[in-house]
Amino acid sequence: MTTHDVIIIGGGHNGLTAATLLATEGKKVLLLERRDFVGGVAAQEEFHKGYRTAGLLHDTSTVRAGIIEQLKLRTHGLVVSEHRSPVTLLSDDGRAVTISDDPVTSAQNIASISQKDADAYRDYRKFIDSVRPLIRNLVSSQPPDIRKLGFSDLKKLLGAGVGLRRLGKDLMHELLKVLPMSVADFLNERFETDFIKAGICFPGVFSSYNGPWSSYTTLNLLIWEATANVHMEGGPAALIHALRKGAEEAGVEMRTGAGVDRILLDESGRAVGVKATGGESFRSRIVASAIPPKATFLNLLSSEQIGPALEAEIIRFRDRGTVASLRLALNRPIRWKCEPEQPIRFARTGNSFDQMEQAFDAVKYRRFSDRPVLDIHVPTVATPGLAPEGHEVVTILSHFAPYAPDGGWTDPLRNKLRDTIVAALSDQTVDLESSIVASELLTPAVLEERYGLTGGQLFHGEHAIDQLIGRPVPACATYSTPTPGLYLCGSGSYPGGGITGAPGMLAAEVIAREIL
Ligand SMILES: Cc1cc2nc3c(=O)[nH]c(=O)nc-3n(C[C@H](O)[C@H](O)[C@H](O)COP(=O)(O)OP(=O)(O)OC[C@H]3O[C@@H](n4cnc5c(N)ncnc54)[C@H](O)[C@@H]3O)c2cc1C
Repeated sequence: MTTHDVIIIGGGHNGLTAATLLATEGKKVLLLERRDFVGGVAAQEEFHKGYRTAGLLHDTSTVRAGIIEQLKLRTHGLVVSEHRSPVTLLSDDGRAVTISDDPVTSAQNIASISQKDADAYRDYRKFIDSVRPLIRNLVSSQPPDIRKLGFSDLKKLLGAGVGLRRLGKDLMHELLKVLPMSVADFLNERFETDFIKAGICFPGVFSSYNGPWSSYTTLNLLIWEATANVHMEGGPAALIHALRKGAEEAGVEMRTGAGVDRILLDESGRAVGVKATGGESFRSRIVASAIPPKATFLNLLSSEQIGPALEAEIIRFRDRGTVASLRLALNRPIRWKCEPEQPIRFARTGNSFDQMEQAFDAVKYRRFSDRPVLDIHVPTVATPGLAPEGHEVVTILSHFAPYAPDGGWTDPLRNKLRDTIVAALSDQTVDLESSIVASELLTPAVLEERYGLTGGQLFHGEHAIDQLIGRPVPACATYSTPTPGLYLCGSGSYPGGGITGAPGMLAAEVIAREIL
């Protein structure tokens, strides 16, 4: 049996990133993917004959620049714009405003609604620009090992302290003050218009078990704002295409339709390979898992193998899914009430903090919201070939929907959720219902079943302050695990989920050192 240097479990964008970086360093890498194609949740899919998504995800703005360069993604055909895509914030009363990371045009747009908010948006972007280098650096570098706190860990913490100090006294105080705040408190101090505040806050609560009034949601918002500064033409699917080409060129052996069933340990307890669902075994010096931590430890290893302490910690890692995805195939372009003749590519609803908080309330009681908050992407605006000529694909990430509603996801309940999301989108559009050719609803339970996302959680584990540092659990906080030879390299590790490639890249650095 051939022995590889590294086996990567799971071919999502983080698995592909880690595999390619290691193969580029001359390591012999085998990547095993359960589905028939790589890409994980970012892969392109046909959900109805002739209608494809650009990936389940919408936002490619947080891919780290270092990854685009190191993996030479541009030479593999990826077209990267240095600005994130504009997004239109929709109000229930028909008003709308488009914002982006360009403070000048955004402020001009906002001024038609409120001059105070236009000025506030300029100041907000100035604040983001000032703290961006510090935050971006923190979430793109190796995390400290908070259990050991050895010299190098203390140096990392000291480095963060020095970075903070360099902001200057006023900015440092401001940042320390706002980080623990709820996004509602943070934005209420700055803006006056409800739907603008709601739209800006969205990344702070996206896919979290949080409403806008939850503490520390400003931290989530600032991390996103500080890292969201690119855009991939063709969306997540284009990113995956380039990553796959890079992996092939680097010599990564990729097997699809090859789910991993068990991680194999030797008598000393060291990971020495994996067994695939078909029964075939593969040997390696290192095993790196790019699937969620719960699936890695609780499905691929036994309780005896991981021990009761780690098992208990992993069980406590929170991964409550709160998002459902609806894909719509339309037989004509979608028309927006706010601008009937204008195509809109990205839009968000929300309307007010009260409405968003009430939408979140529902999920706490295992119900979905009857006034959901929608993150909308119309991929056919930029890539018309995803649908037949003149037709449209719309994908919607709907907040908030529970993983396990009381009584389970029965057909009537699924239909009700679909109708609720369509009704919420209809409020913003002209004659939507008559244009729907087909739809597909993915509840959090389907996200788990189809994509292996435990709990239906988009980020492989919730984004929360206690799950950011020491992610997923302190014993595995620096990509290595208590099982020698076993590493984590997916979104369940620092700095978390989203399409960033950061966990894959940082884990690859650690693994490369181990097998030098
Ligand atoms: C509906 C949805 C919308 C999202 N929207 C956004 C967004 O707009 N922007 C954003 O930044 N983030 C978004 N996210 C989150 C983000 O996509 C994820 O955090 C991230 O892509 C996960 O990437 P990954 O490479 O770590 O893992 P994944 O993409 O989850 O890849 C893991 C891979 O492992 C495979 N696998 C699972 N089990 C096994 C096994 N036993 N053996 C072999 N292979 C296995 C899976 O099939 C999958 O291909 C969204 C997620 C979802 C689900």
